[in-house]
Amino acid sequence: MFVFPNKVCMYVKIESAILSNTSLLHEYLPIAGSPKFREGAINLLWGGDKELIARSGGVQALGGTGALRLGLEFLRSRLHYETVYVSKPTWANHIGICKSLLYPNIKEYKYWDDKLRCLDLDNMLQDLNAAPDRSVVLLHACAHNPTGMDPTAEQWHRIAEVVKAKKMFVFFDCAYQGFSSGDVDLDVAAVRLFAKLGFEMFVAQSFSKNFGLYSERVGQLTYLVQSADMLPRLASNFSTIVRQIWSNPPAHGSAIVSAVLNDQVLTNEWKETVKSMAGRIQAMRRLLFDRLVALKTPGTWDHIVKQNGMFSFTGLDANQADYLINTHHIYLMKDGRINMCAITTRNVDYVAECIHDAVV
Ligand code: PMP
Repeated sequence: MFVFPNKVCMYVKIESAILSNTSLLHEYLPIAGSPKFREGAINLLWGGDKELIARSGGVQALGGTGALRLGLEFLRSRLHYETVYVSKPTWANHIGICKSLLYPNIKEYKYWDDKLRCLDLDNMLQDLNAAPDRSVVLLHACAHNPTGMDPTAEQWHRIAEVVKAKKMFVFFDCAYQGFSSGDVDLDVAAVRLFAKLGFEMFVAQSFSKNFGLYSERVGQLTYLVQSADMLPRLASNFSTIVRQIWSNPPAHGSAIVSAVLNDQVLTNEWKETVKSMAGRIQAMRRLLFDRLVALKTPGTWDHIVKQNGMFSFTGLDANQADYLINTHHIYLMKDGRINMCAITTRNVDYVAECIHDAVV
C-alpha cells in the first residue's frame, strides 16, 4: 500500500465537507450506486467523449474485484459464455473468480517471455487466435499485474485485430489508471482504442489504488454497447445480480471519489497527486536499476525500467525469493514480483545489495 503525499490534506477537506453534509445519513444508496459517482467514473474513463458516454452505463461495485465478479457473472449466467482467457501470468483472483462462477473453460494466453523478460506478443496472438468462438478475453488496461509490462500502442492494435477476428468479448481490468504513465488519460489509451474500433466491452474500474481508498471498496463496472437502446436492459440485469450479492454499495468512499471527479479544481489536484506518485515509482525503478548495474549484478536488469506501475517482475526465481525473505527480510512474491512502492531512497541500496547477494 502507498499513502499519497498530498492525499491526506486533500481528503481532510473533502471528508469534512461530506461529514458535515446532512444528506449523508447512512441511508442505502440505490442498487446501482450513486448516480454522480457513476457519471464521474464513466467520464474519467472516456475523457469526456460524449459519443462513448451516450453508449455507456455503470454500476458501482465493491472495488475492482466486485466489478469483475459482477461482469463475469453476467457473461456466464445471462449470456452463457463458457470460455474465459486470462493472461499468463495474471492476478490470481481473475482465475479464482472465474472458477467460483463455474466457467467450464478457463484458458491462459501467453503474456510474458521469461527469457527475454518482456511481452511475448507473438505467442499471445497465437493463443488468442486459437480461441474457440464466443470467448471472453480479460485484458489489463495498464500496469499489468504481475509483470508490469504493457503492450505498446502498435501492439495493442495487433491485439485488437485478433480479438475482433475471433469475435471475443472484451473485458478490461482497469485497476491502476494513472499508475503507469502518471497520466490518467494515457493509461486508458488501450481501452479508448478498442472503443473507437467499435468493440462493445466491460471495464472493471478500481479506485482503490489511484485514490488510495483501499478499504472503502470503491469501483465500478462500466459497460459500453453499440446502441444506447441496450442500456436499460443491461442496467436491469445488473441490478438483479447486485441485489443478490451486496444489495447496494457503500457510500463513503464513493462520495469522496464523486466529490473529486465532479469538481474540476479537485480533479486537477488529484491528477497532480497521481502524477507525482507515479513519478516517484519511476524514479525508484531507475535508482534500483542503476544500483544493480553499478554492483555488476549478473543478468540484465533493464526490464525494471521498461516495466510500469506498482510491480516489477524481477526475474528472480522462487529460491532467490526465499533467500531474500529468510536471509534479508525482503518480502516478495515467489514468482519474483516486487512492489516498487516499497522502495525508497533510504532502502534502495540495501535492496540492491541483497538482490546482488541472492543472484551471485
Ligand atoms: N485487478 C487487478 C489486476 C488488481 O491487481 C487488483 C488489486 N490488487 C484488482 C483488480 C482489485 O482491486 P480492488 O482492490 O479495487 O478490488
